[in-house]
Amino acid sequence: MRISWKLTVLFATAMTTGVALGRATTPAPSDKPERPLASMPYTPSLDPAAMDKSVDPCVDFYAYSCGGWIKENPIPPDQAHWSVYGKLADENVRFLWGALEEAAQPKPGRLPVEQQIGDYFAACMDEAAVEKAGAAPLRAELDTIAKMRSLTELPAFLGKEHLAMHGSGMLFGFGSTQDAADSNSVIAEAGAGGLGLPDRDYYVKTDKKSVEVRDKYLAHVAEMLALSGEPAATAKKHAQKILAFETTLAKASLTRVERRNPYNLYHKVDRAKLQAMTPSFKWDAYLTATGSPSLSTFNVDQQAFLAAVEKQLTAVDLDTWKAYLRWHLVSDRAPYLSKAFVDADFAFYSKYLRGLVAQRPRWKRCVHMVDRDLGEALGQVFVKKTFGADVKQRTVAMTAGVERAMESEIRALPWMGAKTKEQALGKLHTIVNKVGYPDKWRDYSSVKIARDDFAGDVARAGIFESRRELDKVGKPLDRGEWGMTPPTVNAYYNPQMNDINFPAGVLQPPLFDAKLDDAPNFGNTGATIGHELTHGFDDEGRQFDAKGNLRDWWTKEDGAQFEKRAACVSDQYAQYVIVDDIKINSKLTLGEDVADLGGTWLAYLAWKAATHGQKLQAIGGFSPEQRFFVGMAQWACENERPEDLRVNAVTNPHSPGKYRINGVVANMPEFAKAFACRAGQPMVRATPCKIW
Ligand SMILES: [Zn+2]
Repeated sequence: MRISWKLTVLFATAMTTGVALGRATTPAPSDKPERPLASMPYTPSLDPAAMDKSVDPCVDFYAYSCGGWIKENPIPPDQAHWSVYGKLADENVRFLWGALEEAAQPKPGRLPVEQQIGDYFAACMDEAAVEKAGAAPLRAELDTIAKMRSLTELPAFLGKEHLAMHGSGMLFGFGSTQDAADSNSVIAEAGAGGLGLPDRDYYVKTDKKSVEVRDKYLAHVAEMLALSGEPAATAKKHAQKILAFETTLAKASLTRVERRNPYNLYHKVDRAKLQAMTPSFKWDAYLTATGSPSLSTFNVDQQAFLAAVEKQLTAVDLDTWKAYLRWHLVSDRAPYLSKAFVDADFAFYSKYLRGLVAQRPRWKRCVHMVDRDLGEALGQVFVKKTFGADVKQRTVAMTAGVERAMESEIRALPWMGAKTKEQALGKLHTIVNKVGYPDKWRDYSSVKIARDDFAGDVARAGIFESRRELDKVGKPLDRGEWGMTPPTVNAYYNPQMNDINFPAGVLQPPLFDAKLDDAPNFGNTGATIGHELTHGFDDEGRQFDAKGNLRDWWTKEDGAQFEKRAACVSDQYAQYVIVDDIKINSKLTLGEDVADLGGTWLAYLAWKAATHGQKLQAIGGFSPEQRFFVGMAQWACENERPEDLRVNAVTNPHSPGKYRINGVVANMPEFAKAFACRAGQPMVRATPCKIW
């Protein structure tokens, strides 16, 4: 049911459907059993061993900074992608594994929070019970679908079903959102969804690879339907019809680039209007089933999509509808069912689409699921054991420094007029910084967790979260809420909240490193802070004002000046090849590319201001400026499978790590000076792009 947060994150999470299990892990040494980490290991945020000094930094700075890391860190078999961030996330997971094993001991005296996360984890780890249950957890819903006599029963079924679901794969997504025109007001939202492939493009592209993906998808859908009890021949026929059904929805869905324009996603309607959009779908029945019968105001993010849903309701026969519902039910639940379901789900979404060789061990999947479903309970344990007050204080101070740098930049911008500057400064001063963890923890005490009912636990946690979302409608907005859990190794900006968020998980070595000096810390964490900050002013974020309302506060001339400068970045990144002959879709990655460039520049300024008057020394043969840039580059070291690169080329708004570094430094004369690069070298662009 959850509609994806409209957040601008530092990274896109890797999984697209079914298993939303994050991005971490590491290879299992085959000769000894894996064990939890007792404490977090230390890797410095600037690591000379991760470099390849045989490369000329002015030719390929990413290879120079990350060459050693790339060589020493092959992609583990259960990963699509391996990176400094992914490795740290894996360490967090290994550390949390130990905490969960301890909490899972049914000892008297466990705190209520420990009991919940411990029992959930124990139920998830009880593979024998999950195996024994087989497809039984699906039985009641499969029966309901089988007994449907007409599509008039669909709204009530979907309303109930959506509550327990973790994605928006079944026809559409439904939840709540801040009103784009009035950020203090929370309204309901019906969002486009309904697809089984990672993006609408997969249904419409005609190249050889896309045709192959659709063939494999057909086989996968048929296999899952067969697992749900259909005879193989029927399942095959149904798969064809499901693909045609989803293709109609896909064609009516906006592209990812179109979705970057927030005006394309804002259509506020009252209940009568919503009903008029889909005469064949009774919203009264749907809303009653969700437990929110009196909702009155809705955002329909994509009107053409709802029109396509209406068309399907009148044009497609009941048998196809039932097959479609069955497929999405089985696909959504597969990760929580017996091995046959888990394996089939893995084979298509992870092995074929992303190139994984092996499945993640069960403990790892279970830790991820606790983090997803009870994340602020698990997060309390994480914060207590890893996040000290000193780190919070230093990163809060660093954030203030980067904000001061942005303020002086805005004041000095030659291309922005006084009127827009005043508004921009107002927005900058209003941004709320959230560091580490929420002030108030989410209370999960109403979620019933049973040690012997894993599928039930997942469903009840899903219902809790969906209800929590819907219950926000009409109430005062909770500005303290977080969209990421504390152990998450990521960060985000939310344009409607106008806040930047840095979970405790991203403020540890080798990212923020309390043992090292300012140069690599500003290069790494400082640039991340700057990155999130500038999202408030990128092609998407600049359309929201200081209050988080969608409102154009730019003068026409200044807006055009911004577009011109952004186009410089877009043209630059459009030249970079991701894999095969696929180049970066730089209209999709524009906001992130602009944030990487602006964020690094602001961090550089903030570092200079923070160390003003200090006599900085060279360390290990590197000047302070060189250490700033190498520290910056080393957050992005990564290896990625070609399959994963292909999916990301379509779905990921971030450029590959190599270009997130080389694309930035090539635009910075300060970099060229630090490494004595000459004009004409690859890391020195003749006409650098600069926005902030
Ligand atoms: Zn970002």
